[in-house]
Amino acid sequence: MEECIFCKIIKGEIPSFKVYEDDNAFAFEDINPISQGHTLVIPKRHTQDLWEIPEEDLAAVHSASKKIIQAIKDVLNPTGVACLQLNGRGVNQVVMHYHLHLIPRASGEPELPVSSWELKQGDMEAIKQTAEKIAAAIG
Ligand code: 5GP
Ligand code: ZN
Repeated sequence: MEECIFCKIIKGEIPSFKVYEDDNAFAFEDINPISQGHTLVIPKRHTQDLWEIPEEDLAAVHSASKKIIQAIKDVLNPTGVACLQLNGRGVNQVVMHYHLHLIPRASGEPELPVSSWELKQGDMEAIKQTAEKIAAAIG
């Protein structure tokens, strides 16, 4: 993946503010942070999204995120941390290398746009039918 910006960050070809690294995962600060401490956790092996990522790398990213979220809590004492992970250009995934956003919200700061939406009750029959279809499709 010659052109992937996150692969270049892992290799050190593009600088980053690294916060964590192990054999399979890497984490660094987002340069367009939604909030202080906005961190990206990625697998070292290039893979695009949740459809593609091998389970081993998924586990590595999420194990790393547990260490990092603890450090974020210790250092920034946020009121909460949103974990966001986008799959596909249709939901505004911009960098096509799997990444988990850890987005802290400081006490007294406005709601994070990624964690506040209006709750409207859905059509229960439609929800049931969709659930049945998804459940039946899981191998
Ligand atoms: P996405 O919409 O794909 O989930 O988010 C990609 C994220 O990567 C964005 O929040 C963006 O700010 C961040 N990003 C894009 N390019 C770079 C870069 O070169 N360095 C860093 N640290 N973050 C980047
Ligand atoms: Zn990559």
